[in-house]
Amino acid sequence: MRIAFIGLGNMGAPMARNLIKAGHQLNLFDLNKSVLAELAELGGQISSSPRDAAQHSELVITMLPAAAHVRGVYLSEDGVLAGVKAGTPVVDCSTIDPQTARDVAAAAAKQGVDLADAPVSGGTGGAAAGTLTFMVGASADLFATLQPVLAQMGRNIVHCGEVGTGQIAKICNNLLLGISMIGVSEAMALGNALGIDTKVLAGIINSSTGRCWSSDTYNPWPGIIETAPASRGYTGGFGAELMLKDLGLATEAARQAHQPVILGAVAQQLYQAMSLRGEGGKDFSAIVEGYRKPE
Ligand code: NAD
Repeated sequence: MRIAFIGLGNMGAPMARNLIKAGHQLNLFDLNKSVLAELAELGGQISSSPRDAAQHSELVITMLPAAAHVRGVYLSEDGVLAGVKAGTPVVDCSTIDPQTARDVAAAAAKQGVDLADAPVSGGTGGAAAGTLTFMVGASADLFATLQPVLAQMGRNIVHCGEVGTGQIAKICNNLLLGISMIGVSEAMALGNALGIDTKVLAGIINSSTGRCWSSDTYNPWPGIIETAPASRGYTGGFGAELMLKDLGLATEAARQAHQPVILGAVAQQLYQAMSLRGEGGKDFSAIVEGYRKPE
């Protein structure tokens, strides 16, 4: 199938590589020329704009940083909607607010184009391994069309409901993740300060009622989980800046729904302070450093 892939960053590039490996022809667009050159070597075609990429494709996929980029890439003069043919399925995998997803889908629908939101979880490791979870907001027909292609980049392809519901699932999950990482950080730092071996403490938590992914898979304390960013200087994971963005999406959606997210708001402020200290580029589990004396 000929697929337009727009937004080839930390997530998009490995996702596109998996589609090339699966035998698809890709029309590629990104502002970063070096990633385009790298993927062209694997057989992808470089396009001159989102419009150009979409015009000649049977499916369009986008993976962009935030809502402003999504609006720009879809709605501008040289955007996807200026090029895409009626009836072409379109899916945006960026993490953005549900309302922008619905607005862009409404603009697409006016010209006979069905658009899904399908944010992912699983990080850059999952993107490379093709094991992402896709949370898909789409009509039943569009979900059925997209499912086989998304399955070439992911392991769990979940239909959450109509357009926008994928983003709702994603921001609720990341709200909880941002909070749970802070909870685990507090517990680990308190245990350390009171004098228990942190490995023993983590072992107890991970077989007791405090167990959660932030503790048993991604523990923020260095040396507990070998594969976690904490054990490699908080590099190469999910940046605190992206967590801050997702908590902003959650608190804003909550404001619109008149719904309290008290711990989410506190978590947002803690990651905001981390960003102010110039540490937004570190993995979000480095939030634990706020609870430790510098070495
Ligand atoms: P990234 O910043 O690495 O990549 C974004 C890419 O989009 C860049 O290559 C950039 O050049 C390109 N881009 C920006 N504006 C553009 C435009 N107008 N036209 C074309 N290309 C443009 O970000 P990422 O880590 O790949 O994340 C993408 C999305 O996935 C974000 O919404 C993020 O929240 C979400 N996400 C990231 C992770 C992760 O672990 N990194 C995990 C799950 C979800």
